[in-house]
Amino acid sequence: MVIESDRKPILLTVDDDPGVSRAVARDLRRHYGETYRVVRTQSGPEALETLRELKLRGDVVAVLLADHRMPGMTGLEFLEEAMDLFPAARRALLTAYADTDAAIEAINVVDLDHYLLKPWDPPEEKLYPVVDSLVELWLASDERPVSRAQVVGHRWSARSFEVRDFLARNSVPYRWFTSEEPEGQRLLAAAGADAESIPVVVTPGGDSLIDPSIGELAAEVGLSTTPTTDFYDVVIVGGGPAGLGAAVYAASEGLRTVLVERRATGGQAGLSSRIENYLGFPDGVSGAQLTDRARRQAHKFGAEVLTTRDVVGLEVRPSSRAVRFEDGGEVVAHSVLLATGISYRKLEVPGADALTGRGVFYGSAMTEAPACVGSDIYIVGGANSAGQAAVFLARHARRVTMLVRGGDLGTSMSHYLVRQIAEIPNIDVRLGTEVIGLDGGDHLEEITLCDSATGTKETARAGYLFVFIGAAPRTEWLEGVVDRDPRGFVLTGPDLLARGSRPRGWDLDRDPYYLEASSPGVFAAGDVRANSVKRVASAVGEGAMAIQLVHGFLEHQ
Ligand SMILES: Cc1cc2nc3c(=O)[nH]c(=O)nc-3n(C[C@H](O)[C@H](O)[C@H](O)COP(=O)(O)OP(=O)(O)OC[C@H]3O[C@@H](n4cnc5c(N)ncnc54)[C@H](O)[C@@H]3O)c2cc1C
Repeated sequence: MVIESDRKPILLTVDDDPGVSRAVARDLRRHYGETYRVVRTQSGPEALETLRELKLRGDVVAVLLADHRMPGMTGLEFLEEAMDLFPAARRALLTAYADTDAAIEAINVVDLDHYLLKPWDPPEEKLYPVVDSLVELWLASDERPVSRAQVVGHRWSARSFEVRDFLARNSVPYRWFTSEEPEGQRLLAAAGADAESIPVVVTPGGDSLIDPSIGELAAEVGLSTTPTTDFYDVVIVGGGPAGLGAAVYAASEGLRTVLVERRATGGQAGLSSRIENYLGFPDGVSGAQLTDRARRQAHKFGAEVLTTRDVVGLEVRPSSRAVRFEDGGEVVAHSVLLATGISYRKLEVPGADALTGRGVFYGSAMTEAPACVGSDIYIVGGANSAGQAAVFLARHARRVTMLVRGGDLGTSMSHYLVRQIAEIPNIDVRLGTEVIGLDGGDHLEEITLCDSATGTKETARAGYLFVFIGAAPRTEWLEGVVDRDPRGFVLTGPDLLARGSRPRGWDLDRDPYYLEASSPGVFAAGDVRANSVKRVASAVGEGAMAIQLVHGFLEHQ
């Protein structure tokens, strides 16, 4: 068997006699120490506590050797409880003499593999052949150590989904277990939690977090959440392609740079299963891959990237600009780049809010795809994002039905995607169809559709509905600070001069730069900017360009 992590599997001994305990551990280390870690304990309760810790850390236990006659908890009782945590570990009982009753009972109760008589000298004859056979049996069980986070939750729990989606979008590897499956139950027991406390996250270091907030989780898995200093050359708000592009250019050109992201870097692009039209990736690239590379590139040049920090205010001071966080903290800089993009519009139909994360998902095709295997799923929307999701999900689901309000897919979707969709046999496109209601208990079970032309209603069984229905900027917090268009997009450069004069309050003897907002030193790039092209390449390009303009601003301020 190939052992995936460099952690050694464990041989655990428990014996209340210190002399015997030391001797057995010494003999085991001498023979197995290179491949296995020998852990020595002196009572049943101590051994169980150790096993719980090992479980949380993702270690695996190959063999349990327990003395039978111990005060408080017998070896048999210990092995019985230990089986709940490590059912694959092979078990042997140590007895001072042939205690046949205990051995027979053990065979029946704990499926004992062997029992060993003390003393076992010489070990080459009496101990190692037995342990060899135990190890062989364990190797056949194919248990592997885990060196990644583990998440235990419920398939239809919105919080469980939130946690998994956050980890996935931040490229934190994890293993997912439902609270119903045996391994999930074992992890819950080891963490002292139950099915009511989900989601439970066990970090690679073995700490268990019960129903953690996203901020708590970010800090635990090593994502930065607080700035390291209190003044920067540029604060970038938003970690999508525009923000990450700007961070790479700003930091590589020597600007003290901090990027603040509300949730997970990557923005909308991070949700894309395959971006086919970004320059330099002829075979396409997933949003997660692109984000991971961009984030590493930004780090390499020295940009700070903070996640899970929501910016809720911008204050322009005489010689600086401050962005304020939800918790009242702030970060101050010479200049600010707004790269907050756009957010999905919510589906405004009865039942949608209650079922979000429980069958209704916004733009989260990647995270949920494995769960859709063999299901019939629905996608609402007719633009590129919906089309990409349909192509991606069709590889997992039995049937994908796209619900499109308009009468022609070609008016809202790129030609290459329309063609791909037409060629995939398990995708249906229903034009002129709207979703008007959702229903279900603890998860989505039924959707109500309406034919826009005839008004005919129908209901359909549905476990999954992915929503991609256009998006809007969330810029209310900029009210009164920078000018926005009626839909909330930030006006910059030439758009601010459209009425023939400079913006109100503008006190410099130059016009605003191309990507500069109505307040000097505040810039906007990417989808949040009025009249921007809503594409990855243009967002990245604007991010880079904004930094050039920041240099101009810093030189002349
Ligand atoms: C599923 C999908 C597929 C797509 N496929 C393609 C494609 O194939 N090709 C293509 O060219 N384009 C594609 N697009 C469009 C493209 O992803 C966007 O145009 C691009 O991501 C815009 O980048 P941005 O940085 O301006 O904004 P966004 O990507 O929207 O990023 C903005 C970021 O700012 C953060 N933020 C917002 N407000 C705050 C705040 N107050 N405080 C802190 N952070 C905040 C958000 O959480 C987000 O991470 C796709 C979009 C989607 C949704």
